[in-house]
Amino acid sequence: MIVSRTYEEFAQHRDGLKGSIGFVPTMGALHEGHLSLIRRAREENENVIVSIFVNPTQFLAGEDLDKYPRREEADRRICELAGVDLLYMPGVDQIYGADELCIGAPKLRGYILEGARRPGHFDGMLQVVMKLLNLSRADRAYFGKKDAQQLILIEQMVRDYFMTVNVVGCEIVRDPDGLALSSRNVYLSEEQRRRALSLSRALKRAGKLVQSGEMASAKILAAMEAILLPEVDELEYVAVVDRAFRPLERIETGNSIVLVAAKVGTTRLIDNLWV
Ligand code: AMP
Repeated sequence: MIVSRTYEEFAQHRDGLKGSIGFVPTMGALHEGHLSLIRRAREENENVIVSIFVNPTQFLAGEDLDKYPRREEADRRICELAGVDLLYMPGVDQIYGADELCIGAPKLRGYILEGARRPGHFDGMLQVVMKLLNLSRADRAYFGKKDAQQLILIEQMVRDYFMTVNVVGCEIVRDPDGLALSSRNVYLSEEQRRRALSLSRALKRAGKLVQSGEMASAKILAAMEAILLPEVDELEYVAVVDRAFRPLERIETGNSIVLVAAKVGTTRLIDNLWV
């Protein structure tokens, strides 16, 4: 595995790769969720590129940029064992310059739910993903459904900007008890982790209701709230949207996402279910 830290090194090694390229952008502190993306990229491409970059422009003031978990050595070993060909770990100065041209999230879809709670987050996320996709010139790029709104906005960016990369959405990986894996789970105490299970429990309940024929979003969301409110410290939102992120009054099977965001302690958690 080649590790590059500068743009020049990376570009040179990228140019040396022959055959199809699968790309997995991450912020590091790698877990099984990231690994599932890397494995899929490994299966579907001749070469696999992973980037690890804690992107400052997608963190809002007061968020966890400074304490975001950083595990360079472990991440590097994980990538090596997973058969990654090229690992890019740039510093901020390798990605950003002064007085940059910025692309922005769409004004509607980019500013509801996560976008409303974290205004500007998706601008920074799209900015860095655009850069990394252009740098890697990958055939396929792999993103988790865990960050559903992110995935949908990246798909839109690729469409709107006539980019040629294929965006591949990958299933959410969970711990056996249901908690969706996240680099931020390390912030949770044992007691908080127990309460955090209410997110996946609420989604499971939503899934059961849909299976039993309940399609009214209001009913489903009320059932979720009943599970979440006693457990979480702040319920930010529960919502039902379609796969273009338009709010839905009724579930449309095969075209719906049920979403939840909540704080447990000071840790912000998101989870969702595609139905
Ligand atoms: P991050 O390092 O949190 O920016 O995540 C990098 C990529 O991994 C994103 O596409 C995430 O959606 C994806 N990812 C994070 N957690 C999970 C998970 N539990 N299951 C599947 N994909 C995930």
